[in-house]
Amino acid sequence: MPAKSASKKVTTKKEIKKKETKIKTKYDIYVYNDWCKKCGICEAFCPVKCLGHDEIGQVIVLDADACIGCAQCEIRCPDFAIEIKVRE
Ligand code: SF4
Ligand code: SF4
Repeated sequence: MPAKSASKKVTTKKEIKKKETKIKTKYDIYVYNDWCKKCGICEAFCPVKCLGHDEIGQVIVLDADACIGCAQCEIRCPDFAIEIKVRE
């Protein structure tokens, strides 16, 4: 039986950094229905199409995990009715 090697794999700083950058930041999307006038601007500007609307035009979040946090929806909304927060 071969003797076990005493050497242990050491994780370098570079490898740790590489692993960290692979973890994608997630965001939560809050729509304040009372303020929303159903104009659809947020949906139109979302570059990853993670927002949609129902049959009466109410904004719905289709896929929060797809959100890249660009805040275009928040910036463009004329009624401050949508907010993006980093998921904790
Ligand atoms: S922050 Fe950007 S990606 Fe996320 S919902 Fe708003 S427009 Fe879409
Ligand atoms: S831009 Fe604002 S007011 Fe217009 S649909 Fe989106 S959340 Fe509602």
